Amino acid sequence: MEQGTNKIDTSSDKGFFDRFGGKYVAEVLRRPLDELEQAFKTYMQDKSFLEELEVIRRDYIGRETPLYFAPTATKLLGGAQIYIKMEGLANTGAHKINNAIGQCLLAKRMGKKRIIAETGAGQHGLATAAACAKLGLECTVYMGEVDVRRQQPNVAAMELYGAKVHAVTSGSRTLKDAVNEAMRDWAANPDSTHYVLGSALGPAPFPDIVRTFQSVIGCEVKKQCAERGIKIGAMVACCGGGSNSIGFFEPFINTSVKDGGPRLIAVEAGGIGPGIGENASRMTGNASREGIMQGYKSRFLLDEDGQSLPTRSISAGLDYCGIGPQLAALGASGRVEFTSALDKEALDAVSFFAKNEGVLFALESSHAGAAAIKLAKEIPSDQAIVINMSGRGDKDVFITSPVFRPKEWINFLHAEIERLENAKDIHEAKSMAAN
Ligand SMILES: *Cc1c(COP(=O)(O)O)cnc(C)c1O
Repeated sequence: MEQGTNKIDTSSDKGFFDRFGGKYVAEVLRRPLDELEQAFKTYMQDKSFLEELEVIRRDYIGRETPLYFAPTATKLLGGAQIYIKMEGLANTGAHKINNAIGQCLLAKRMGKKRIIAETGAGQHGLATAAACAKLGLECTVYMGEVDVRRQQPNVAAMELYGAKVHAVTSGSRTLKDAVNEAMRDWAANPDSTHYVLGSALGPAPFPDIVRTFQSVIGCEVKKQCAERGIKIGAMVACCGGGSNSIGFFEPFINTSVKDGGPRLIAVEAGGIGPGIGENASRMTGNASREGIMQGYKSRFLLDEDGQSLPTRSISAGLDYCGIGPQLAALGASGRVEFTSALDKEALDAVSFFAKNEGVLFALESSHAGAAAIKLAKEIPSDQAIVINMSGRGDKDVFITSPVFRPKEWINFLHAEIERLENAKDIHEAKSMAAN
């Protein structure tokens, strides 16, 4: 915003990006969505709102995040200069805080006291819980019961931030059901409550709002590259719902490659292969279809009856059957190129950047790393590939360790269980904490 000339607006036309997007919701949700759209328009012009957001970004999130030149990767890959946008250094460990803080601050200005959010892997729930703790808002996170069970470290963190985690027991008890439950809560409590949606999807105006708050990533990259005289050949980001990629791409979308703009490459989860249910490739996969789900028109992984199909990815954040409508439109127009990376390639990319650069990618972000490794030779050496490292990999130790060092990890878990069952001091500490 304060970046002046860097600000580019790619907003929807009445909620639509070409034929994608829209606001396909029950009547009860129209009023809260319209009210949100109005408030967003108002506050994005409000100097005191923008100043408060700027200070929080600087002092709480830790912006701007560095643009790191990766010298060893550049040498080893033998092509483009490799740069990494270190979004994983943002407080809470990923880009999701950019959107959570923006929406929570907006909700506070709207007079809302209560925040709800959906979460799958728990990263968006965690960011929202932290933002609510920071801004003094009440927070309830809806999370499928299956996800609650398998994502305990994030559940524990959300509770530390003071959020209530509500385990959803309907349907497949995963992300899709958590979204439905959050929508139901919002429809029942529109006056007190704001629903912080976690990616650049859902009914209008969410895709515009989430992209706007995430575009701070791309605006910083544009400024950092201009200051350092870096010519960008390609920008690469992983793509789940699409919030980190669309925010990273936004300032570059309106300049085509023909007019000197960078190639924009979004990387979906290739999972274990091209079969149905083996990946989360909504743009490039075999089951990719247009449809309307959860309030918006886009591309989804659907069966012939229009029912959503199971997805699979080693990275929880990319494991979703839908993609944001703006990215679906940019894929159709060809401005954004889509590719995918397999689980195995993502794991290899984690190792590659950890060993050679001392940078630990989140498994989601390492899909972008994997694509950049393949792309490097295609881009001339006087140009850069900028990889968005949307998150850091500390959170993935429970997934990467069983793969990289299975025996040691199993031994560790056995020893931990034994230690906890016998640990008098832990029981004592707990009863002290309760008092
Ligand atoms: C959630 C998440 C993603 C995927 O979500 P997008 O909306 O596509 O950005 C990617 N990277 C990390 C680290 C995440 O936590």
